[in-house]
Amino acid sequence: MTQVRTRFAPSPTGYLHIGGLRTALYSYFYARKHQGTFILRIEDTDQARFVDGAVEKLIDIMKTMGMEPDEGPVASGTPNAANPHDLSYLGHKGDHGPYIQSLRSQMYQDHAQKLIDSGHAYYCFCTPAELDEMRAAQTAAKLAPMYDRRCLQLTPEDSAAKLASGMPKVIRLKMPRDRQIEFTDSVRGRVVFQGKEIDDQVLIKSDGLPTYHIANVIDDHFMEITHSIRGDEWLASTPKHLYMYEAFGWTPPTYAHLPLILNADKSKLSKRQNDVSVESYLSRGYSPEALINYIALCGWHPGKGSEQEFFTMEDLSDQFTMEGVQKAGAIFNPDKLNWFNHLWSKYKFYEKLDKEAINLNAGVHITKAKNQDRTYLFDDTTAEPKFAQIRATMLLQLAKLENHPSYQTDKDKFLRALLVTEDKILQNPSATSDNLQYFFSPRPLDHALLMNAKMGVDTAEKAQESLKFCQDILEKIPANIAATAQSELSPSSLGQIKQIFLDSIKAASRKNGEILWPLRAALTHEEFSVGAFETVWVLGQAESL
Ligand code: GLU
Repeated sequence: MTQVRTRFAPSPTGYLHIGGLRTALYSYFYARKHQGTFILRIEDTDQARFVDGAVEKLIDIMKTMGMEPDEGPVASGTPNAANPHDLSYLGHKGDHGPYIQSLRSQMYQDHAQKLIDSGHAYYCFCTPAELDEMRAAQTAAKLAPMYDRRCLQLTPEDSAAKLASGMPKVIRLKMPRDRQIEFTDSVRGRVVFQGKEIDDQVLIKSDGLPTYHIANVIDDHFMEITHSIRGDEWLASTPKHLYMYEAFGWTPPTYAHLPLILNADKSKLSKRQNDVSVESYLSRGYSPEALINYIALCGWHPGKGSEQEFFTMEDLSDQFTMEGVQKAGAIFNPDKLNWFNHLWSKYKFYEKLDKEAINLNAGVHITKAKNQDRTYLFDDTTAEPKFAQIRATMLLQLAKLENHPSYQTDKDKFLRALLVTEDKILQNPSATSDNLQYFFSPRPLDHALLMNAKMGVDTAEKAQESLKFCQDILEKIPANIAATAQSELSPSSLGQIKQIFLDSIKAASRKNGEILWPLRAALTHEEFSVGAFETVWVLGQAESL
């Protein structure tokens, strides 16, 4: 059986497009799944779009995303200051290189010549002005613009004379106009093109450099690519490519054209509506794992009956199939990406925390939910406060708040505040300082906030009465719990505070809302915050009073 060889063949634009990430991932998964080889090839035929340092950036981001190619360019050497387009200083790993098209020009020219010799291609001497005129006339006649093959009418002598005179020229592929070109795409199924509808593609430009089309075919062939996985936008070019394979007498790779990734309004994923660069998501705190997990599912499904959403790179490499790739365009949903980012943030945090829990108490019972939430039940309860301490310290580090002034002033209180806002921290660690603000310097109290008609506190008097009720409870909190709550991070003291409140409210035949709403509002000065019990626990008895 031939060894599977896939490639990711981006142009060096300076960043990795979200759509490019998906193409790369599917090529990577497919290679891994079949114990094959994954290749990175730089398609820099369009020198006008060249961006300095782009190849190094690509190599870097592939590494960051955990998709290091088995073959491809290697970042080494010093760039040629005099000519940044010259990428010959870069290294290569693999024995099918170089893996950068600008370093393979001669090969493309030689093969274009072969196509001319075999009658599959021809020289075209038309000037840009002539071509514009031709197109304008065709458009006016309501015809699809297409090269009219006037240079194909030149006699061999005319053509030779023009060549000898050094006149600017291109080489065009001579598409067969009397037949169909068809193939089976791994995603699309049978695809049929009419030869007469396909333009004679320029293969070699007037500057002697190849276009994407010929370079892509030559490279896929000589790099022994077995599966060419690429975006849907290249589907229309595929008959041109297949015809070149035929002309050279080569076997083409199996093609898989991936459906586009779309904005919510079904337009092509654009910079205007969404961020499209992977680098920008990373710099905004999205994890590579979450991006991979979400983007892999944009257009691929593990199969009927599967509801799995959480996938590691290994899961994906293991489970990926071409059959699972959908034909319809996939909608990019930033909310869903946020959800995955949160999920992965929880996964990574709790994986570490699980180890700490087991370390403290081998008999700990850990329950894992599908959304990665955890409950920890210790059979040795002395482990609990120690565990809370470790957990809070991990949150402190995650939020990078070791130097926060409020932490320096009252470490225990700060750690308690972190513990009760854990889910928010795991969602967006960089917002933690803002999210904790109300525990340390609440904004001035808007007294209207103490009332809430729905909770049965519709007058200032009622609110005041509820707070008086809370004052009594707070004062009665047994000294030992109060002391515990103040001095150590005992989650059991939070449970006790909750119990005392609930029991007192019940004994007085009051409703929870009418007591707890004013209490929480009075302590936080916020409409939204963590619950009343958590707030009391963070602030402690004295401050709450
Ligand atoms: N260079 C093309 C791109 O930038 C790749 C096309 C292909 O994979 O064949 O998307």
